Amino acid sequence: MTMTRCPLCRARLSGANSCARCGADLTLALTIQGAAARHLQQAMTCLAAGKRHSAAAHADQALRLHRTPLAETITHWLRAP
Ligand SMILES: [Zn+2]
Repeated sequence: MTMTRCPLCRARLSGANSCARCGADLTLALTIQGAAARHLQQAMTCLAAGKRHSAAAHADQALRLHRTPLAETITHWLRAP
């Protein structure tokens, strides 16, 4: 899930690293969001390889970096007994 709105002023983002309306530098937020997406992808890769414990660790990290409904669902599912 990519950032579609500026977290400060809610302007629609064009894909640039800064907001055209308020000028906020979103580089760090976008970097963290990308790292979270990569951890979620790694969780799926680990799960496909049968490494459920590693998958859960990656899903936890993704959730800590960026709380999304998908990350919450995957983490909850992996942590279920
Ligand atoms: Zn803005």
